[in-house]
Amino acid sequence: MTMRKALLSATVLSATLGTAAQAEEVNVYSYRQEFLLKPLIEAFTAETGIKVNVVFADKGLLERLENEGQNTPADLLLTADIGPLQDAVDRDLVAPIKSDVIERNVPAQYRAEDGKWIGLTSRARIIYASKERVKEGEITRYEDLTDPKWKGRICTRSGKHTYNLSLIGSMIVHHGEAEAEQWLEGLKANLAQKPQGNDRAQVKAIKEGVCDLALGNSYYFGKMATNEKEPEQKEWAASANLIFPNQDGRGTHMNISGAALAKYAPHPEAAIKLVEFLTEEKAQQIYAESNFEFPVRPGTPWSALLEEHMSGFKGDEINLGKVAAQRAAAAKMVDKVGYDN
Ligand code: FE
Repeated sequence: MTMRKALLSATVLSATLGTAAQAEEVNVYSYRQEFLLKPLIEAFTAETGIKVNVVFADKGLLERLENEGQNTPADLLLTADIGPLQDAVDRDLVAPIKSDVIERNVPAQYRAEDGKWIGLTSRARIIYASKERVKEGEITRYEDLTDPKWKGRICTRSGKHTYNLSLIGSMIVHHGEAEAEQWLEGLKANLAQKPQGNDRAQVKAIKEGVCDLALGNSYYFGKMATNEKEPEQKEWAASANLIFPNQDGRGTHMNISGAALAKYAPHPEAAIKLVEFLTEEKAQQIYAESNFEFPVRPGTPWSALLEEHMSGFKGDEINLGKVAAQRAAAAKMVDKVGYDN
């Protein structure tokens, strides 16, 4: 055992002796990555003495939760999108969280009314536009992506990816299904290539001249612009202007990373403490600094880079639950228009 672990166990032990008979710990199933969660968990354990065990995965966690049923060790699910949170709710894998701290820290649009999902950070789905080939003000709305002048000039990842399903879901909420379908068809008609790769690959494609517009999440700008491991990503970021669509109307489509309490959580109280901690100033700032996400907690400072490039934009204030409710319809629509073909 390392010295660090020994110290940690001692802290956990004293906290346990000081309270109930049961050891205080929280088990987390996480779609969020380890580099991001680690500093948050360390800060939580240092403050509370509660030990946090995490299973990291990029898929299959809901299935695991479902299969384990009442015997699950999992207390908390952490995700990088509203989609899996809503899926977990729909599959009856979630218990509600009721907390004054969370209600104070998280705006109503970013949490379920019944407490079954809680947003921890937000992100905007923006348009990256070539600095060389797209003039300022030439595109200002998602709706304009269907304009024939963009034919063969737009890149996106798969329509079935959870980030795009939420965006399409928001188009359904705001325009109705028929109009949203026309929009998706129009967007598909303007694609430069078959949808492929991740969000960053679309910006790379702008840099390489494959396309002039791309859809991508806002934090990827920060991750590319500061990437020391793969410095070529800085050039990708530098090749594009950031367009926050629909500023004169409803605002830019927003999504969240978030948490849900497992229905059969063995340690619900400690789990809620962790969620509360993640909504407080300190944790919100760690999220903002380490992954260029927007804190959901009002008044929490952004990272300097985001402040410089993104401050003052208007985000769509619709409750994300309404958007999430359209994701199944969005997925059907992606198939129907053959978006990925
Ligand atoms: Fe992402």
